[in-house]
Amino acid sequence: MGQGRSVFPRRAVIKGSAAAGAAGVLGGFAGPASGAPDFHEGDDAFAALRRLVDSTPLVDTHEHLIEEKGRLTGKSERIKADDWSFLVGHYLDSDMLTCGMPRSDHETFFSPETDPLRKWELLEPYWPRIRHTGYAQAVEIAAKRLYGVERLCRETIGRVQDGYRKAVKPGMYEMVLREVAGIESCQVNSLEVPFSESPQPALLMQDISILGLHMGPDLDAYATRPGIEVHDLSDWHRVIDWWFETYGPFAVAVKSQAAYSRNIDFEDVPPEDVEDVFRKVLSKDVVTPADEKRLQDHLFWYCTRRATEHDLPVKVHTGYYAGDNHMPLGRLLGNADAASGLCRTAPDTRFVFMHINYPFYEDLIAVAKHYTNCYVDMCWAWILSPVAANRFLKQYLVTAPANKVLTFGGDYIPVEPVVGHAALARRGITAALAGLVDEGWLDREGALALVDPIMRGNARTLFNLEAKTAALQRAPWL
Ligand SMILES: [Zn+2]
Repeated sequence: MGQGRSVFPRRAVIKGSAAAGAAGVLGGFAGPASGAPDFHEGDDAFAALRRLVDSTPLVDTHEHLIEEKGRLTGKSERIKADDWSFLVGHYLDSDMLTCGMPRSDHETFFSPETDPLRKWELLEPYWPRIRHTGYAQAVEIAAKRLYGVERLCRETIGRVQDGYRKAVKPGMYEMVLREVAGIESCQVNSLEVPFSESPQPALLMQDISILGLHMGPDLDAYATRPGIEVHDLSDWHRVIDWWFETYGPFAVAVKSQAAYSRNIDFEDVPPEDVEDVFRKVLSKDVVTPADEKRLQDHLFWYCTRRATEHDLPVKVHTGYYAGDNHMPLGRLLGNADAASGLCRTAPDTRFVFMHINYPFYEDLIAVAKHYTNCYVDMCWAWILSPVAANRFLKQYLVTAPANKVLTFGGDYIPVEPVVGHAALARRGITAALAGLVDEGWLDREGALALVDPIMRGNARTLFNLEAKTAALQRAPWL
C-alpha cells in the first residue's frame, strides 16, 4: 500500500500541479520571494501574481495546533483516534453532521475502536454532499500534497491511512508547515493550556488565552500555576498580572473567544462595582445574568489593559461558530457594532477581529476603515467560505487601509490540513488581486506590491515578530 512513496512527495506533487496549468488545484510553494517581482512578456495578471503569491511565505496568525510531541505520542485529549479520521475531525466533522449523517454513525466514524479503512464506508454515502466545501477541499488538497493521493475514495483510502501513519514522525511540523505549506511562523492559541511553552517557539509562537481569565474565573487553569490563593477580586487581578508578567515578553498576542457565548459588547466596569459579584461567583452563589456580564466586562478590560501595557494586540473572535446546531445568528449581528465600541473605548489598544466576522464581513470592513486600531484577520475564512473570503479581500483592499488586513490563519488542531488551507488562501489571494486588476480597480504594479504586506509584512509589524523571535530564542523554558 505504501508503494515506496516518500512521505512528503513535494516536488512530484508541485510538478503535477504546475502541469495542470492555471486551472490546477494549487500553486506550489517555491521558496521565499527574491528580487523585484515583474510581469513576464505576454503574461496576464493572473500568471504573474500566481508566481509571486506562490513564492511568498505566509505568516499564519491563528492555529490551535497541539505540540508536536503530543502528535508523535498520540497522547492528547484532542486526538480522538490516531488515524486518518483525525484529519476530518476539525472541521469537516460538522459538515458531516449537517449534511445528514446520523450521530451514531458519526461517533463510530471517530471512534479509535473502528478500523480506519471501514471509516471510509461510513463517510462514503455523505461525501458527494460535502466534498465541495472549503473544509473538505482543504483535507483533499492536504492528502494530495502530503501523501500523493489525488482524491479521497474507496480505492485510495488505504494509501491515505498509510501516508498519515508515516508522516507522524519527528520533524513533522517543520516539514508540513514550512516546507510544504510555505509558512514562516504560526501563532497558536492552545486549547490545552493558557500558554504553551513550545520547544519550537519560533515556529509555534503563542497567544496568551485570556478566555478563562475574563469569562471564568477558571481557577484550575490559571491560579494553580502561579500558586495564588484566590479569595477576592484583587487576588484574581494578581493572577492575571502573573500571566502577563511571566509570558507577556514571549507571547505575540492575547486571544478571547468569548463571542461563542455572548456578544463582545464589553463595558468598562470599575472593580468596586463587581467585587461582591466576584465573591458570589467564587462561592458558587447564584448571580443574575446582568451581574455575570458586568464581571466578565470588567475582567475583559483588566486583561486588555495588561495586554496593551505589554504591547500585545488583543485578538477577538467574531462571526460564525464552529460546530453544529447551536449558533444563534442574531447574536452575531451585534459583533461589528460591538467591535466599533471596543475600538472607541481603547484607542491605544490594537484589536484584531478574527474570521472576518463571517458572514457579516462588510460591516467589519466599515469598522476597519473608520478606526485606526481595528485590524481584520482572515483566519479560518478560506475554508469557512472560500468564495466569501475572496469577495471580502477584494472589497477590503479597495475600501480600507491595506496595512490592517491579515490574510491567513489555518485555525486547525491537526497540522496536516493547514497545507490545504494555505493552498486555498494562495489561490484566493491571487484571484482577488488578479480580479481587481482585470476589473480596472488596481493596476498590476499596485497588485504585486500588496502581496508581501498582506501575506506576511502586516503580521510581522503588528505582532513585532522580529523582536519576538529574538526573545523566544532566549526563552527560559528552552
Ligand atoms: Zn480558532
